[in-house]
Amino acid sequence: MSKTNAAIIGYGGMGSWHGKYLLASDVANLCGIYDIKEERRKLAQENGIRAYSSLEELLGDESVEIVTIAVPNDRHKPLAIKAMEAGKHVICEKPVTLSSADLKEIFDASERCGRLFTTHQNRRWDCDYLMMKEAYASGKLGKVFGVESRYQGSRGIPGDWRGRKEYGGGMMLDWGVHLIDQMLGIVYDKKVESLYCRFDHLTNDEVDDGFKLDLYFEGGLTARIEVGTSHFLSLPRFFMAGTSGTAMVNDWRDRCRLVCCDKWEEKDVKPVVTAAGLTKTMAPRDEKTTTESFIERPASDVHDFYRNFCAAVRGEAEMTVTHAQLMRVMKIMEASFLSDEKREPVKVEDCIY
Ligand code: NAD
Repeated sequence: MSKTNAAIIGYGGMGSWHGKYLLASDVANLCGIYDIKEERRKLAQENGIRAYSSLEELLGDESVEIVTIAVPNDRHKPLAIKAMEAGKHVICEKPVTLSSADLKEIFDASERCGRLFTTHQNRRWDCDYLMMKEAYASGKLGKVFGVESRYQGSRGIPGDWRGRKEYGGGMMLDWGVHLIDQMLGIVYDKKVESLYCRFDHLTNDEVDDGFKLDLYFEGGLTARIEVGTSHFLSLPRFFMAGTSGTAMVNDWRDRCRLVCCDKWEEKDVKPVVTAAGLTKTMAPRDEKTTTESFIERPASDVHDFYRNFCAAVRGEAEMTVTHAQLMRVMKIMEASFLSDEKREPVKVEDCIY
């Protein structure tokens, strides 16, 4: 099978990662990169990669079929549209744009130019997420009424463009985009009706350095998504509560632990003695009425992202990351900013496609 020719715009942290891993996917050739900074172009050449001297030179290279965009967030839209107008299929880094109106312009360009466009939602291949997806879909937990997803770092926002509003910085756009996309993948069968979000500004007034977002799904399921950058201890990465079982992934290296209750009516337990008195209500059940099991970490290969996109370019597959999915994540992020501004819950429309 012939390989698809790709080039990368932006050879920073993520651009160099794309360089390595589109090659590792075995379905693409790397034709070269373009970066506005000369030192980055020089570094690419030192790494044996062709560095185009201008954007025009890269887009004018007729052998290039796919362009991957890995530049700061505010620059995604103009570059994506320009690349599609030059006849290239485009993979754009997340968050794809800073607003749903900008995203619509990209989709319109994709339609007008007849070129494919997708976004690098690579955290769909994370094992912790895949195990929670399985826990939810298995039905073992009964009626799921709560899902919690967290990343809690301790080193603030990186001191680059991610701390600046004009470049599309902040943790909602950086990490929220992944965690919202994952949550909608886990709770695949329900619509988000409304949400409430509060942002943190512990280290940065311009952009958020963390947030707590509650998504209210139809049927009473609440999902909490939380990102922090000033935490020296972390809550579990994932937690899921159902009427007959609970699932937890402690951190991203962990497997998923499930505790299910087989004998709901057999409630008698030894009371817990606290300093202030006894409690049976809050005492944990024992192994006579619960069963522990595990979902092991699945095999997952993130290179399938490029394999899928290259197959889609050849007309042999549907894109895994669809326009509709990108738009619903963008709308939830927009509604989150609005909720924080108004200090109240807001309705979310058009969030299932
Ligand atoms: P970075 O600052 O390390 O690199 C950005 C590079 O883009 C720099 O080398 C800069 O010189 C170059 N650049 C800026 N404007 C340009 C332009 N107009 N034309 C060409 N080059 C230009 O940033 P990064 O960490 O690599 O992030 C880049 C993108 O990748 C962002 O959108 C970020 O959100 C995304 N990202 C995604 C993941 C993921 O897991 N999917 C991880 C990290 C970053």
